[in-house]
Amino acid sequence: MAERTLIIIKPDGIQRHLAGEIIGRFEKKGFKLVAAKFIQISEDLARRHYAVHRGKGFFEGVVKYLSSAPLLVMVWEAEGIIDMSRKMMGATFGYDAEPGTIRGDFSSSRGYNLIHGSDSPQSAEREIELFFKPDEIIDYELADACWLYGKND
Ligand code: UDP
Ligand code: MG
Repeated sequence: MAERTLIIIKPDGIQRHLAGEIIGRFEKKGFKLVAAKFIQISEDLARRHYAVHRGKGFFEGVVKYLSSAPLLVMVWEAEGIIDMSRKMMGATFGYDAEPGTIRGDFSSSRGYNLIHGSDSPQSAEREIELFFKPDEIIDYELADACWLYGKND
């Protein structure tokens, strides 16, 4: 199985009608969607999701932000997806993310930055388990996998 990552289109991404734009970028890159849920999460789940940031000045704020309105949580799969998706997201704050990235193109904010993506295989495993039961993640083949992931060696 190829690498998996947890991607969240955060509440501002939904409210600003950017879900299709963000999903479209991942689809066109050739990533495979293997799970998705449109939900509003509790503060408790937001706290568990951002547990590594507990105690930091922005922690309570980011917990409120994430639980304030519905979001779209997804698992995407591809070899090397964690690095690739983090590059596509851009730097944490919209105002210093590079143009061409999701945050760079659509966010000018400090804390409201449209998207979450796991930052390591360990984080991905922990975060995916928080949001999905194993049977909610679908294992299937993309019909064009040979074209998407072709190699010359
Ligand atoms: N965040 C914030 N203020 C900060 C740092 C982070 O509001 O000073 C929020 C922001 O929404 C960010 C999330 O907390 O996406 C998690 O921070 P992290 O450093 O993990 O950034 P990311 O991995 O999302 O780039
Ligand atoms: Mg992070």
